[in-house]
Amino acid sequence: MERSRWHIVGSGLALLVMLAAFAAAVEPQQAPALDRVSILRDRAHTDELAYARLAHLCDRIGSRPAGSPTYREAVRWAVETLRTDRHQRVWQEPVSVPTWDRGRERCAALAPFPRQLAVLGLPGSVPGSVEAPVVVVQAIEEIGPLAAGRIVVFVPDIPATATAGERYWYFGLPRRDGAAAAARHGAVALLVASTPVHSLGTPHTGAMYYEDGVPRIPAAALASEDAAWLARLAAQGVEVRLQLELESVDRGRVEAANVLAEVPGSEHPEQVVLVGAHLDSWDVGQGAHDDGAGVIHVIETLRLIRELGVAPKRTVRAVLFANEEFGLDGGKAYAAAHGSELHVAAVESDLGAFRVLHFGASGSALQLGWLAQAAAPTGVPIRAGGGGADISALGDGVLQIGVFTDLEPYFDVHHSRADTLDKVDPTLLRDGLAKIAVLVWRLANEPLPAGL
Ligand SMILES: [Zn+2]
Repeated sequence: MERSRWHIVGSGLALLVMLAAFAAAVEPQQAPALDRVSILRDRAHTDELAYARLAHLCDRIGSRPAGSPTYREAVRWAVETLRTDRHQRVWQEPVSVPTWDRGRERCAALAPFPRQLAVLGLPGSVPGSVEAPVVVVQAIEEIGPLAAGRIVVFVPDIPATATAGERYWYFGLPRRDGAAAAARHGAVALLVASTPVHSLGTPHTGAMYYEDGVPRIPAAALASEDAAWLARLAAQGVEVRLQLELESVDRGRVEAANVLAEVPGSEHPEQVVLVGAHLDSWDVGQGAHDDGAGVIHVIETLRLIRELGVAPKRTVRAVLFANEEFGLDGGKAYAAAHGSELHVAAVESDLGAFRVLHFGASGSALQLGWLAQAAAPTGVPIRAGGGGADISALGDGVLQIGVFTDLEPYFDVHHSRADTLDKVDPTLLRDGLAKIAVLVWRLANEPLPAGL
């Protein structure tokens, strides 16, 4: 028994040796590099720190709007975490950011009967208390003289076939530009319908902008259910009167920081592969998916690469950007400070910890071809078009890669009180990490084709 078992083990060993020799004969140069890909993937899939660190960021620090004390605490935590991971270089760079406090908010129907509406002010909005009849419009072009003295309510008619990303466009456009368009016609306030695929009475916020020379009117988002009610009443010719109170405070600009860390390249340290996410979030919820998940992807990618014990050929630089949400200040400051360096590629994770569907990339045909080759071991398809808000300031010459996830659950929680840790599946968080870590490792090692 004893002897026969050893015999089987011996035969197995002989077979393994033969297979190894065969593999070495076929691809003698490739084997070690592929091993590192497997190691990264395996370690990412069993990474217990990923979710634990996200839990700390969400539950112990919380939401981290630009210029807030909690953003400063997030910077302190990120620097300490990256130092704990023993990276050679960890540092901060100053970024000037705006600060806006939400304050108390209230929206109520006075007619046809009293009813509270779920509302969330749009950051940047002036405070105000208005009481006025409403006019419901579906698009900016519909705003006309009827808006004078009224609260303009945007409730788009979204095709049933629209994707989550397309639905978001129906919210984003009037959210950003609607207040100025409405004020030009004499409106006294703006309300915009939130447009997730699934809503449970949760309004979604996001940045808005005024125009010089146009009156600044209070602006807020409505839960899609309340917006739909107003639209149905308007369609029936029922006069609706609303009261909107926003007590927001603009606290001006303060100094914040981007957080950076590097694993230096062994052969081409001057060539940078950037992996980034934004450390700020809106003030509601916990910024778990937007963009806590991305922050963890970046921190853990750098740690897993350093812990391979073999330096990448190019420098891998992790960047946690300040204030993506309220003006892209971190991305602009990074590009101003580092734009002249040679960025071979920049990867951004800013679509949460949902299932990764593709890498969306912007670059030349040569760059995209090289990316497809480098990304092959991730198993993630490449699609032309995409990148990330923070890395966009690096300009067209840099290959920019965005991690595109399943946008339906993402936009359901995005910029809302529901973007909390309980919405994060630890397995999907780690699966996204595995794909990003392998991608970044390959981008930092794959030889560049002639002409790139
Ligand atoms: Zn984001």
